[in-house]
Amino acid sequence: MQTHFSLAQLADSDTAVANDILRSCVHCGFCTATCPTYVLLGDELDSPRGRIYLMKQMFEEAAPATAEVVTHIDRCLSCLSCMTTCPSGVHYQHLVDQGRKHIEETYRRPLMDRILRWGLAMTIPYPARFRLALTAAKLARPLAPMLPKRVRSMLALAPRRLAKASPVDTPQVIAAEGARRQRVALLNGCAQTVLAPQINEATVRLLTRLGVEVVVADGAGCCGSLVHHLGKVDQSHAQAKAAIDAWIGEAHGGGLDAIVINSSGCGTQIKDYGFMFRDDPAYADKAARISKLACDVTEFVAGLGVDLPLSGAAAGVAVTYQSACSMQHGQGLKRQPPDLLAAAGFSVREPAEGHLCCGSAGTYNILQSELADQLRDRKAAHIAATAPAVVATGNIGCMTQLADALDAPIVHTVELLDWATGGPKPGAMN
Ligand code: SF4
Ligand code: SF4
Repeated sequence: MQTHFSLAQLADSDTAVANDILRSCVHCGFCTATCPTYVLLGDELDSPRGRIYLMKQMFEEAAPATAEVVTHIDRCLSCLSCMTTCPSGVHYQHLVDQGRKHIEETYRRPLMDRILRWGLAMTIPYPARFRLALTAAKLARPLAPMLPKRVRSMLALAPRRLAKASPVDTPQVIAAEGARRQRVALLNGCAQTVLAPQINEATVRLLTRLGVEVVVADGAGCCGSLVHHLGKVDQSHAQAKAAIDAWIGEAHGGGLDAIVINSSGCGTQIKDYGFMFRDDPAYADKAARISKLACDVTEFVAGLGVDLPLSGAAAGVAVTYQSACSMQHGQGLKRQPPDLLAAAGFSVREPAEGHLCCGSAGTYNILQSELADQLRDRKAAHIAATAPAVVATGNIGCMTQLADALDAPIVHTVELLDWATGGPKPGAMN
């Protein structure tokens, strides 16, 4: 694609990056076939190619975002399916990140939109506030029929029962069982510690059982991903810097072999820290080091190269593996999770249209609830066709989005690996 930036524009690092990305697009349109919003809406402007064209115009003209651009960029899930499909290596992720930042800086949204987006950004990444908000949501549920659709969607996503905070989610070092093979830091995360604390508990049990010492670093809270996708770059960079500082201290202190992440959306973000801070002299090296250490829990366990100590409890149980977009498209991890489940003795199935998003996508299922509902129902139907006893996925967002749409329970992959190697049966299966 030809671009027409001035030399002065290209002196800006972000514009130079956007220019390179735009020029790598050859308009072939292969990406349209695997873009969930194009599949649903059939509008070129809701395809990757259409959005790339809209962003090119916006960046070249250095103009404030228009309502049309905002509509089509807001409908993008940032699922990155287009990056998997693109034969030219167009880095859509970095382009749309810039697009969202530009919108946030130049476009004035309607008041209710601003309040909702501010509320999400100030609540979800902070566990104590998020817990309070979910408690309030429980109380507000009887009023749901009188509330606007987006608020109803928020209430529908709130769990009916809130688990207590887990003791593993406080700063500490948890010793390996037997001889120590490796030492890792675990990202505990933000919303996940409130919605599903059993995931970190299962992760710690699995890792320590495999001879891995687990560090929960003081100060590493939210990775910044949620607000990053809302275009709130200052907030996301501040959260990322806090996590980097917490882990760098551990890396220098006792040494770290990896930073283990059990939420694939967070993993995609942390693996991108090196790029995010490339122009920040105080953080560029540290961020690049953290990105290199980052790995999904299934990527880490597969890379350990040890035989899983199977208990036999899970043998033959039918598991349908739902690959989160951030796992397969964001991190390119397609085989590790289902292969580990198979190695653990499960009978693993994968649904049709596995490349398409379930509609979760951070806060998308609240901000774009109608499209998200359509994607959820489509995904749930494909999963149901595989007749699972249980559904596994590697991202809390997919679990929340799909839980009520499925007949079978949905759990995190690591809960099943923990069960198969001597841990308790996942609570959702009881
Ligand atoms: S990120 Fe997903 S929704 Fe957005 S353009 Fe790419 S494929 Fe479509
Ligand atoms: S597949 Fe890649 S090169 Fe082709 S239109 Fe889409 S983004 Fe551009």
